[in-house]
This record gives sequence, C-alpha cells and structure tokens, in this order.
Amino acid sequence: MLKVEVVPVGQLQENTVILKNEDTKEAIFIDPGAEGKRLESLVDGYNVIGILATHGHLDHVGQVGYLKERFDAPFMMNERDEFLTNNDIFPGFAALIGATPCPKPDKNLKEGNILKLGDIDIHVIETPGHTPGGLSFYIPSYKLLIAGDTLFKGSVGRTDLPGGDPNQLKKSLEKLMQLPEDTRVICGHYQDTTIGEEKRTNPYITGSFKVDLW
Ligand SMILES: [Zn+2]
Repeated sequence: MLKVEVVPVGQLQENTVILKNEDTKEAIFIDPGAEGKRLESLVDGYNVIGILATHGHLDHVGQVGYLKERFDAPFMMNERDEFLTNNDIFPGFAALIGATPCPKPDKNLKEGNILKLGDIDIHVIETPGHTPGGLSFYIPSYKLLIAGDTLFKGSVGRTDLPGGDPNQLKKSLEKLMQLPEDTRVICGHYQDTTIGEEKRTNPYITGSFKVDLW
C-alpha cells in the first residue's frame, strides 16, 4: 500500500514528495528542496531507500546533501542536470533557501528505468525542456505522476533558465499527455491536477495561449 505525502517547503513552496510503502516501511524522498529537518522528522519508523530529484534546480535538491548524510540512501537523478545542482542561478538563491551542497548522483536515471519501492514500480520518464535532464516519475499501479517543474496546473515550466529548451518542453508535454486521463499529477509547485484536466484546460497544451514556447 502506497502512502503519498506532498510537503510544500521553503520560500518557494516547492513540493517535496514522500512515497511510503506501508507494508515494507520503506520510503523515498523526491525533490527535498528545503526544510531538511522537518522532512527528516516525517519518515520516523521508515527505512529511507532512495532520494530522487526531478531536476537539478536548487529549490528541488537543496536538502539532498543533508538527507543523504542522515539516511545513507542513494541519490538518483539524470546526470545532464549535474551542472545545475550547486549553481546559484540567482545571486544569493542558495542562501535564501538554506541549500546544502548537493552530492554527485549515485545513479544516473534514464528513460525506462524502473525503481522499486517494495512491490510498487516507479517508472522514469525523461521530460527535458525546463532543464536538460528533467525527469518525471510515474507509478502506474496508483495512476500517479510526479512531474517536477515540467507541468503545472494551468501552466508549464519556464524555459528561460540555463539549459532550458522550449521545443524539448513541448515534446515532453506531448509525451506526458499520452498517460491515462485520470492520472493524478503532483507538480513541483502549486496544486495537484490530472492529465485529463490539463489536456482540456491548460492553455499551453490546448494551444489557446500562443507563446514562443510553441
Ligand atoms: Zn525548476
């Protein structure tokens, strides 16, 4: 049985996701961006078996170093985003969110990789565009997608930061729109949505809002 906790952390209210297998008492952190001590307190009684990042922006990886030291769990992301993990894109950004230095990934996640949380499969989908190494995590048995900053409720990730690419983002969104419509989407910031709702109402996907993204 999967338990999913979404914890908005830090000044940017970045959504950290904690996946817990209630049968095996194992847990995985996704995008622990800030408030490491608080996140640590939320997995009491669980064995943390992995720390994942959807992408390398500091507001998503700011507490990877802290949690890796606490739990000695492998850190996994796509290596194309390594150049971002200790990069203060905006001066003072790391200090603002209290980021700890991010370690090198222990495993380079790629399209088609399947991670195991007990008997729960987590599929890795490459969704570049917001960043070159952007990933989404899909759990088919629970129709759940963790999309990072690729897709937001009614919006999409920005592509004007280093390594961003509007054409890649467009392709990534098309790929995500192939998932079942009743897939719940947890985004990197803001509220949850579903694939079906975004297909119908997201102006960047319906094409009613034309920007140079397209
Ligand atoms: Zn981002």
